[in-house]
Amino acid sequence: MKIKKDDTVLIISGKDRGRKGKVLEVLPKEGKISVEGVNLLKKHQKPKKSGEKGQIIQLPKPIDVSNVKLICPKCGKPTRIGYKLRENKEKYRICKKCGQEI
Ligand SMILES: [Zn+2]
Repeated sequence: MKIKKDDTVLIISGKDRGRKGKVLEVLPKEGKISVEGVNLLKKHQKPKKSGEKGQIIQLPKPIDVSNVKLICPKCGKPTRIGYKLRENKEKYRICKKCGQEI
């Protein structure tokens, strides 16, 4: 997965298009991510004790990773991710806009 937890992404399709948010969870098997405040699903939570009111909580439903673009923390622009190798063959991500490691 190119996107990692705690990355900031821009939503590029769907009803939340144009919205930015932090990645809360990455699901590599499904190719999906959960983004803070995006694609919220309302859930009714039953009261825990009698006499308490039930609550409606909103949880982000995972979206397809192809629907987002990473926002580069270095240049602040939505970008594509590239990879480079260090001398020890370790792979790291670079921003295709500014070329800096992200
Ligand atoms: Zn950049």
